[in-house]
Amino acid sequence: MKLQQVSDNCFAVLNEKSRLCDANSGLINLGGGVVIDTQSDLSHARRMIELFAKVWPGMPKRVINTHEDGDHVWGNQLFEGAEIIAHRTAPDRMKQAADPRTSQKLLNGVDNFLSRSLLRATHPGKLAIGRQLRHDYDFNGINLALPTTLFDEQYMLDLDGTRACLTYVGPCHQTGDTIVHVPKEGVVFAGDVIFRQCTPVGWTGTYQKWLEALDLIIWLDPEVIVPGHGPVCGIEGAMEMKAYLEYVREESQRCFEQGLTALDASKRIDLGTYGAWRAPARLFVNVERAYREFRGEPADAPWDMAKTFDGVYRVAKAKGIAVEF
Ligand SMILES: [Zn+2]
Repeated sequence: MKLQQVSDNCFAVLNEKSRLCDANSGLINLGGGVVIDTQSDLSHARRMIELFAKVWPGMPKRVINTHEDGDHVWGNQLFEGAEIIAHRTAPDRMKQAADPRTSQKLLNGVDNFLSRSLLRATHPGKLAIGRQLRHDYDFNGINLALPTTLFDEQYMLDLDGTRACLTYVGPCHQTGDTIVHVPKEGVVFAGDVIFRQCTPVGWTGTYQKWLEALDLIIWLDPEVIVPGHGPVCGIEGAMEMKAYLEYVREESQRCFEQGLTALDASKRIDLGTYGAWRAPARLFVNVERAYREFRGEPADAPWDMAKTFDGVYRVAKAKGIAVEF
């Protein structure tokens, strides 16, 4: 992890591996300090605090969660007494989608000989992601610290005269997707609306909403975007994400009309230059999302995670690329 200054008063802690759970955090170093997203486990959150402490005068008064996923909220508890701001849906969704016990159970399963053997035979993708996560993460000791200030459409912060504007743009990647714009600094903290040079994944939401959220970011025309995953970028980051989503939706449509399954479609779709993005086989999740839309399923239809990770695993194997999530 590294600290990067992105404007006079804005900073990012970047988790350079850019795979699932390797998320970025932001800091607006004004008005008592605002931290944006708090990492995936306590050791990463402590490291993030150490890095930001090089520039902040003291523990910040506020935390913003850009959405409910565990890798953006599991360090919340270390900001004792801070106001935690998020979209109205975030507390309930965190309880559903970010239960650290579920993730720790997966890691424990990798350590246990019997369950490991069973997983290898039945869900090789689930075993593979468990192994990947176990290498870097430990979800023990995490207690969900839920947001304390909730908003619906927009929420403004006045930080020593500098405005920070939170805008709800979901559901595109997740139910609670929020972007944080600091106009005076020319910075947008995009959460998982933007994955940079790593393959996006989305859970709740639609392609349409996601494209609209990216259009909004392009319209805001920031000098710097801090994405949820991957390196800091300019608006080209939003444009390339748009191009990826449009490409995948179009290719998925073609395959859907030919009667291919989402898995076969993902094996067949040419990654082109997107093959150089981290974890390209996560394409499967995006194809499956497109298929759900073509079938008219609701944007919040639940995911069978074991099946989803197996899909990514099988696509990686079929394409002869590294199994990475
Ligand atoms: Zn996320």
